[in-house]
Amino acid sequence: PAPLIALRDVSQVFHTKRGDVPAVRDVSLSVGAGDVLCLVGESGCGKTTTARIAAGLTAPSAGTVEFDGVDLASMDSRRRHEFRRSVQFVHQDPYASLNPIRSIFGTLSAPLRRHGLAKSKAQAWEQSKELLERVDLTPAENFLPKYPHQLSGGQRQRVAVARSLTLSPKLMIADEATSMLDVSIRVGVLRTLTRLRKELDVGFIFITHDLAIARYFGTGGKIAVMYLGRIVEYGDTHEVIDNPRHPYTKALLAAVPEIDPDQRHAHDTGLRSVDIPSLTDLPSGCSFHPRCPLYREGDCDSELPLLSSVESGREVACHVVAEQAEHVDGEAPR
Ligand code: SF4
Repeated sequence: PAPLIALRDVSQVFHTKRGDVPAVRDVSLSVGAGDVLCLVGESGCGKTTTARIAAGLTAPSAGTVEFDGVDLASMDSRRRHEFRRSVQFVHQDPYASLNPIRSIFGTLSAPLRRHGLAKSKAQAWEQSKELLERVDLTPAENFLPKYPHQLSGGQRQRVAVARSLTLSPKLMIADEATSMLDVSIRVGVLRTLTRLRKELDVGFIFITHDLAIARYFGTGGKIAVMYLGRIVEYGDTHEVIDNPRHPYTKALLAAVPEIDPDQRHAHDTGLRSVDIPSLTDLPSGCSFHPRCPLYREGDCDSELPLLSSVESGREVACHVVAEQAEHVDGEAPR
């Protein structure tokens, strides 16, 4: 069967006063029903733009997006409407994403009533209650009359998750959904999201800059590491995190502090330069070359490395890693 969502050679260029910004470059990825894909990388690497393209919120400058095998660009209005219902976003900021003058019941019941899923106020109340229970906000009837300012950050984010579930989505996109929460609250919200992912059998695109969170949430799924608009490494989440191959993924992992607070100390990421190059003035060849500890003059600064298979299920965009894989296998990777 066709994947739920498939991006093929998608690029996005934003035209700004400072020049063209190629925010996403030649990205291909897919997510099936019940699958999870973690998109990771530093801020500005293109992960949010990629997710917005997947959700149909931004049309790509080039490439195609297919939902259930149908090209978004060719969808008639009925199909498009269906698609919009099927994809829901959970944003980073629970403070900004909820209407401050709407009660929690108002927030949850509005889409239920608008889409004819609740025929009466009483039915909307029952369904809203069930939604809050799903996200572990109990007793739900105590929360329904409240307003966002009466809730904590974690509770608001749970309401935002509940709202994203109102229309029974097929694909959920969580964009740094826990990064603004206190660490103590974050774990609880992550646990709820993980349970929902398993229960609901929806496809999930989970965006985070935090690899420890990707490892926790992305168990059994795939991970795509992005750098300056491109995917530089792709594979099984645990395998990539436990055994990274691309020098950038290695540096990202080295920068993650130990989970044990007693072990926390500054890590040497091995990067040659701390400055991230600008998207308006991309380095030649491999965009990572000004920072890369494996940099090799000649090819790294002149030739763009494309994603290639370096072992079963693992793709890496790096001349040196591809060459090492070739050497080990005795044959060229695909
Ligand atoms: Fe580093 Fe060269 Fe590989 Fe780019 S292609 S990641 S510069 S070794």
